[in-house]
Amino acid sequence: MQRFEYRRERTMEAAASVARSALTAPGAAPGKDSTPARNSAQFIAGGTNMTDYMTLNVVQPHMLIDLNHVPERYKQIESNDRFLRLGALVKMAQAEDDPIIGKRYPVIQQALMLAASRQIRNMASLGGNVLQRTRCEYFRETSWPCNKRAPGAGCAALDGLNREHAVLGTSDKCIATYPGDLAQALIALDAVIETIGGTSGPRRLPFAALHRLPGNSPHLETALTPGELITFIEVPAGPWTRRSRYVKVRDRQSYQFALTSAAVALQLDGDTVSEARIALGGVATVPWRAHEAEAVLKGKVLNEGTAGKAAEVAFAGAQPRTYNAFKVPIGKQTLVRALLETQAMRV
Ligand code: SF4
Repeated sequence: MQRFEYRRERTMEAAASVARSALTAPGAAPGKDSTPARNSAQFIAGGTNMTDYMTLNVVQPHMLIDLNHVPERYKQIESNDRFLRLGALVKMAQAEDDPIIGKRYPVIQQALMLAASRQIRNMASLGGNVLQRTRCEYFRETSWPCNKRAPGAGCAALDGLNREHAVLGTSDKCIATYPGDLAQALIALDAVIETIGGTSGPRRLPFAALHRLPGNSPHLETALTPGELITFIEVPAGPWTRRSRYVKVRDRQSYQFALTSAAVALQLDGDTVSEARIALGGVATVPWRAHEAEAVLKGKVLNEGTAGKAAEVAFAGAQPRTYNAFKVPIGKQTLVRALLETQAMRV
């Protein structure tokens, strides 16, 4: 691990300003397409991801900007009849333990509880969690070619061991899976994020616009500009938020990333679907909203047959590779199970 400067800032604004200044500091040459270089300044909150990247030399920041001393409001959870508002520095465990989230937004609580370990969730912030980077082993081991880590280098996973890789949203430059769980719940519920420090000042943007498909530039992972920070995540309340569920399938039942997952929220009129919100995890390069599957269900009686049709549509565009084709049938079954279990909820 290389030496770095440690900065502790007391406001989000100051942290963003320091990060922007650091972009032009000696030794911090911008990367391709104006993205931060591997050695650019990085924010740190829980540090559960950043210290990994630094230890592995995937990221070699010359400066770490600690966010833990910013005002309390960024560490608080607010809720009312209209929305749930989460500070970006709320800990995963803190949100998981919140009784309002458990009652009114169970899909968020379940996605959190099924992520990582409780020890990690005690440390990790929500803002950091949604920005976590892929677990592709070729990305994390710097001796392999990887377009995400080193643009233009190639992708070792395309013809390599790609069992954990994505089948949706892939490109011929990158097939890395988005690894998180919370993001699926947030995109299903139409969450919005607030940021500061962007080139055009503070802004709100749909959570669905945060993560970028890999396309020809997999190193550009989000819509955030260098120095821009997530400050809040807001989730609108709706009739579907209480009837919501997260199902995660993984190789072992604890401390493991999803092979497949589904976040579902339903508004039902009897057994007929008035509204359906569906997101898929473990199978796509970004948090994946399955709008076409939702359209299949709207106005239909929900049963195993209609759930199966929705699942077929959700994976219609899947592009499996040598070792990950099994994700398509399991992903469909995961979604069917999530839909039927959500239907069976007592709310
Ligand atoms: Fe890198 Fe993406 Fe290929 Fe993995 S799949 S090696 S992250 S380019």
